[in-house]
Amino acid sequence: MNYTGTRGKYAISSSEAIARGIASDGGLFVPESFPALSDSEINALVEMNYCERAKLVLSKYLTDFSASELDDCVKGAYCGTFDDDNPAPLREVDSKTFLLDLWHGPTCAFKDLALQLLPHLLTRSAKRTMSDKDIVILVATSGDTGKAALDGFADVPGVKIIVFYPENGVSAIQKLQMTTQTGNNVSVCAIKGNFDDAQTGVKNIFSDPEMIKTLSDNGLVFSSANSINFGRLVPQIIYYVSAYCDLLKAGKLAPGEKFNVAVPTGNFGNILAAVYAKRMGIPVNKFICASNKNRILTDFIRTGTYDRNREFYLTSSPSMDILISSNLERMLYHLYDGNCAEVAKLMDSLKKEGKYTVSADILAKLQSEFWGGFCDDEAAEKAISKLFNEKNMLCDTHTAVAVDVVEQYRKETGDDTLCVMASTASAYKFAPAVLPAVFKGEMPEDGFQIIEKLSEVTNTPIPAPLAGLDKREVLHKNCVEKSQMAEFILKTLLK
Ligand SMILES: *Cc1c(COP(=O)(O)O)cnc(C)c1O
Repeated sequence: MNYTGTRGKYAISSSEAIARGIASDGGLFVPESFPALSDSEINALVEMNYCERAKLVLSKYLTDFSASELDDCVKGAYCGTFDDDNPAPLREVDSKTFLLDLWHGPTCAFKDLALQLLPHLLTRSAKRTMSDKDIVILVATSGDTGKAALDGFADVPGVKIIVFYPENGVSAIQKLQMTTQTGNNVSVCAIKGNFDDAQTGVKNIFSDPEMIKTLSDNGLVFSSANSINFGRLVPQIIYYVSAYCDLLKAGKLAPGEKFNVAVPTGNFGNILAAVYAKRMGIPVNKFICASNKNRILTDFIRTGTYDRNREFYLTSSPSMDILISSNLERMLYHLYDGNCAEVAKLMDSLKKEGKYTVSADILAKLQSEFWGGFCDDEAAEKAISKLFNEKNMLCDTHTAVAVDVVEQYRKETGDDTLCVMASTASAYKFAPAVLPAVFKGEMPEDGFQIIEKLSEVTNTPIPAPLAGLDKREVLHKNCVEKSQMAEFILKTLLK
């Protein structure tokens, strides 16, 4: 299977798409077509464990990887790294509502599902396509990607990783997770700006010919671990396929019966992976796209206009505080049936005017599959309380946004189709916002006392990767202006 670009035509292998991360014209790599899962393959998948399911799904997209390579990649990523045999187990809220828990990995957020696998895919891809160079992974993070990428890539030979995060845009725990990261190939730097500044800075540096040449002269080449990299997207398809198989196996769905998927969305990567699963034959009815107060995607799905000229809010779900949803570009490409000239025009308009509008027929196509909704911090807190009080189940602030939006969706549409909600982080990662939802007494002041209190009140264990974080040494204290990111990179790499 070949890969092409959203803004211009290419015909490259999956290895090359993964090694390069982003196309030279600024577009994203997409598969030329969607591979199908046959009925007999789905029957077989139902009986498989997660790793076997992963291998089958990956083999459909990564056609230049051998079976034994995929076997090694999947074992390296998912065997022994998650605190559950199934890295993506379902939790039943009621017979029509399930949480897909994606936070059992080493950094307690769903990005582990992709970022534990990506280093294995990327090092093999790079060896095939650019064997003489070391890879430099640049990451812009709203909190969770940074740590998950650091954990995945730490001490991987032939790779260096540099992570930028918004100084005031991540939770205290997220910050500590990153600044205490060990490894001889890692650096972490705060920037004075928000996530979009970090992401735009990284994107510009990626496509800056002078930077690329300087790196190349020094035996280095950039790649990306952000969800613009197809190697981030493909592992996420697996858990939607796996969730469907688990529902079939448990008799909660009949073969071919449709279900809804709700995803708390920021960069549109996680929800797009669900779309890819549907294109492969998984019977999804609606994609419920849940946003926080930064409701740019809700507005887009409702009106067809994507407009980033608006106030930016810091919310209790910081990993969704995003105004430029990178992966939406891939969705546009698919909605426009692969017309890259149209996509390039929209992206140009976004860059120049900060907005674009899709045509009425494209909007109708989008709305036939998507429903967009949003909620504020208060509603998210209420959703956490309600889930805990009524079901004795704990969820984090991001997942809570999806929980609330699903309730809105059901009220407004009357559609009570079985719904799988992506549960994207451990509640402990966002404990200062979660605790007040489940405990009305006096709040402890210290971040780690809050975590302990949350454990005591909810009678749930503190995830091992977060316990003891406060006792680890802070190793990374850099902070730069957003205009100094390139300088920081050169200083780090060429020292
Ligand atoms: C990254 C993240 C999201 C948003 O995912 P996208 O793929 O960017 O839409 C939601 N919740 C949590 C906890 C995250 O870390």
